[in-house]
Order: sequence, then structure tokens, then C-alpha cells
Amino acid sequence: MSLIIYLDGKYVPEEEAVVSVFDHGLLYGDGVFEGIRAYNNRVFKLSEHLERLYESAHTLALVIPISIEEMQEVVLETLRRNNLRDAYIRLVVTRGKGDLGLDPRKCPRATVFCIAASIQLYPEELYEQGLEMITVATRRNLSEACNPRVKSLNYLNNIYAKIEANLAGVPEAIMLNQEGYVAEATGDNLFLVKKGKLITPPIHAGLLEGVTRNAVIELARNKGIVVEEKMFTRHDVYNADECFLTGTAAELIPCVRVDGRAIGSGKPGEVFWGLLKDFRELTKVDGPVIFE
Ligand code: PMP
Repeated sequence: MSLIIYLDGKYVPEEEAVVSVFDHGLLYGDGVFEGIRAYNNRVFKLSEHLERLYESAHTLALVIPISIEEMQEVVLETLRRNNLRDAYIRLVVTRGKGDLGLDPRKCPRATVFCIAASIQLYPEELYEQGLEMITVATRRNLSEACNPRVKSLNYLNNIYAKIEANLAGVPEAIMLNQEGYVAEATGDNLFLVKKGKLITPPIHAGLLEGVTRNAVIELARNKGIVVEEKMFTRHDVYNADECFLTGTAAELIPCVRVDGRAIGSGKPGEVFWGLLKDFRELTKVDGPVIFE
């Protein structure tokens, strides 16, 4: 079945949702995006995603031609037009059509599109068994060069890391920052549990400030778990009691083996299960309603 896509002010069938080969999003990765999820007739943490989108665009000096309130309506209306209450949403703003040079001044208007597709949930076995990861040689982008806080269309850094994981036959990779401290996975943030405390790298370690990350920190604090945002090394990962990843698509996914070392008992731990339950409860009630 053909989806209805929002593209530059219009809702069109997916066959008609095409952008120019001169679009700088395609030519240079010049643009920003969000991956968002709808659960139970609500768009989870929509205002947090939109804030990150507009802040990322501002840093790139990319002017989004519609207001944040209008963008919220675009997301909700795209879901309505596709009759979706549970979905994965991709919202993209590119620099727009320009010439073959990279100068953004040659692109008079940003391209905006929104795709809402039904979501394939990860199989429950993945949560039961947990993932294996390796640490890859590709370091996370240096903040002064291509700030990981900006959720730009330039994902080559993460794709290099994903290729290394693929070649090693594991589903995910740990990326270190320039100093060798743990930053994040290729498309998810990373948490450890050690002696009952939750530990995650701070934003200045050079990572994307995940919406799921922030939600998990808040849920943990609400249930009295101490959360520390601090730098740590692979040694801390290997010797943690639990390790898990967070992200919009993955939600919370346990990681039970890193670089051949078992993490804790080698099975998803109690703190993980407790937080996943709380997270799933939160997804039922957070965010604006799609169909009144
Ligand atoms: N880090 C990276 C590099 C990502 O691409 C993502 C996914 N957007 C995340 C972390 C997790 O962020 P969020 O929880 O906002 O999906």
C-alpha cells in the first residue's frame, strides 16, 4: 500500500514524493533529521524531538521555512492521513535545491518531508537474550569538526562503525571519542549499571543527546536510582553488572557481551527489566494525541 508523504507543504502519494538531484541533502548530507515514534495514538516526546531538530538546524544556519507549531501539525497530520496510531516517523529538513557547488547561499529554500510508516517491532528474543557488541576502530566525530549533538544527515561516521560491526558479525558497535572514552553506539546511547548506579557518558564526551537517554535518566531518578553522567573506558564496560542501549527505534536493548567479555551474568539484568517496563508505561501516556 502506498504511503502518503508530506513534502514541502503538500501531502502526496509516495510515488510523487521526489526531491531534486540538486538537493544539497543528497549532494552533501547538508540537512537535519529526526526519528520519532508513535505509540498508542500519541507521538512520544514530540516536543523534545522538534526542539532538537530546530536546534540542530540553527547550528547549521539552516532556516526551516515553517514554525515548530506547524511542524508538530505536519507530524500529526501525516500520521492521520496514513491512519497510523503506532508508527515510526522520519522527519527531514535539507538545505534544499542549489547548484553543484557546496555554498548553502545557493539554496534559497529548505526541503521538508515527513514519512510515517508502520513499525516492525524488534523480536522479543532480542530483549530476552541481549546483544553482542565490539569496540570499533572508527572514533566518534570530534565535536569541533562535526558535532555529534547536531543530528545531521551526515551519518558516515556511524556507517563506518556499523560496517566494522557487520564485518565482525555482531549487530552493534561501541564508538570511542578522540580520547578513548566510550561515547555511544552507532545509533543508540549507552548505559552501564554498576553496584546499583546507572552510568552514562556525559554529552561533552561527544554524542547525540538522545531523547530516549533523557527519558531513561528521568525514569531512573524517579525510582530512586542514582544516575551519574561521567566519562568511562572499555574497562568499565567489561566490568559492569549490566549494559544496555537506548534509542527511539530500539527503545532499551540489553547488551550482554562486549569484545568477547561477558557483561555481568551474561544475561539482561534486573535494572534493565525495571526500566524497560517503566519506559513502556511512559510511552502509553506521553505526547500529543493523533486522533481525538
Ligand atoms: N545516538 C545516535 C548516533 C543516534 O543516531 C540516535 C538515534 N537518533 C541515538 C543516539 C538515540 O537517540 P534517540 O533516543 O533520540 O532516538
